[in-house]
Amino acid sequence: MPSNDEHLRLIQTILDYLPGGVSLADKDLNVVAWNAEFKRLLKFPDELFGPETPTLHKLVLFNARRGEYGPGDPEEQARASVERARKMEPHVFERSRPDGTVLEIRGRPLPGGGFVTIYTDMTERKRIEDEIRHTAAYFQSVLDNLPIGVLLADKEMRCVYWNKLGRGLFGIEDDFVLVGTPLQDLLHEVAVKGGYGPGKAREQVAERMELIGNFKPHKVELARPNGGTLQVRGAPIIVDGAPAGFILLQEDITEQKAYQATLERLATTDHLTGLLNRRAFLEATEREIRRAHRYGQSLSLLMIDVDHFKHINDAHGHPAGDEVLRRIATACRGMLRDEDLTGRLGGEEFAVSLVQAPLHAAAAVAERLREAINALAIEHEGVRLTVSVSIGVAEFGRDAGTLDRLISQADARLYAAKHAGRNRVISANIPPQPSSA
Ligand code: GH3
Ligand code: MG
Ligand code: MG
Repeated sequence: MPSNDEHLRLIQTILDYLPGGVSLADKDLNVVAWNAEFKRLLKFPDELFGPETPTLHKLVLFNARRGEYGPGDPEEQARASVERARKMEPHVFERSRPDGTVLEIRGRPLPGGGFVTIYTDMTERKRIEDEIRHTAAYFQSVLDNLPIGVLLADKEMRCVYWNKLGRGLFGIEDDFVLVGTPLQDLLHEVAVKGGYGPGKAREQVAERMELIGNFKPHKVELARPNGGTLQVRGAPIIVDGAPAGFILLQEDITEQKAYQATLERLATTDHLTGLLNRRAFLEATEREIRRAHRYGQSLSLLMIDVDHFKHINDAHGHPAGDEVLRRIATACRGMLRDEDLTGRLGGEEFAVSLVQAPLHAAAAVAERLREAINALAIEHEGVRLTVSVSIGVAEFGRDAGTLDRLISQADARLYAAKHAGRNRVISANIPPQPSSA
């Protein structure tokens, strides 16, 4: 059996090696042992611990007087503290010290009376916890305020978060349980509410889960019942090189689409007549030529130029000329099929691509067009104007093998029509006139 002294030395050695602060009180609440960490953590001066063994009351009174227990009467605070200790009940609590450090204080009664108290410095852990809480709240606020819907799923495809805006886009009510709900159930709710349009909800969900469940990035557009468009984008959330979840972004792109359509229209339309502009006409004709070539179909081109247009401008003013151009455009639109292309190449020059029209048929269309334009009764500021056009016609394949060549060929025939007296259609090469010399 070790002596009492040896026993105490043993205990002291153990205490000194423990990572936290420790104090031992006997059944009379004398503090009989402690380690250096205890004094350091609580910033107790050495004088407190000598010459005779300190009582618990002495230590807590010292604490109360230096304000460790907050405002109040120190004597009363010390008395209450000792009173609690006398009950010898196990306890755990946290105490923030005036210098900002946070201690966890854990007391356990000892078998022969008295108790052991363990002090752990929680300051750093508290700080990290606060930081994590703050970061989480920060990102939550960011997500809540994004102008797009955000749905996050964990890697088991359970919902972690869906912001209000996103839920609103699909009419998912506030009381619908989100967190922890399998994504599959959530998408099913979206499907039965009509979010994916008409169709079988189960199939619509399965189709999406096939992408999401395999962490496949994707982008889809959904037509909304009100005529708008929703864009949904999905991407895996990668952490340390492995999928840790999935993010789905929902955005109402109705306005963007309308804006885009307006821009496209503006970029391809001639503002005066509403016909295709030069670039759009040539691009569209190029596409039609490729198609005609692929399917062995014919395509013919009409080059149309207004006769003596300069005279109309000079005699009646530029606005009158503009009105003539608009009326010619309307006449063309009225006479041609939807699949034919009509463009204003510039000035008073128009062009028409007739799909599935061999040369003789195109020449007949051109002739009808010429007549119709010549018959137009155009009123401008009380003046009646008449106008005529000359037209050159050429067929792809027969007359030319490229768009450029087709245009030159039709242009040459247009020039021939002008030369022959205007207000006419020419669809064949004029044999060179024998020289009169
Ligand atoms: P031709 O029968 O030989 O084709 O004679 P023309 O007078 O029609 O041909 P010319 O090329 O000499 O004149 C075309 C005129 O078209 C000149 C130009 O001022 C006018 N013009 C070009 N663009 C516009 C437009 O947008 N509006 C109006 N009003 N006139 C235009
Ligand atoms: Mg011209
Ligand atoms: Mg002209």
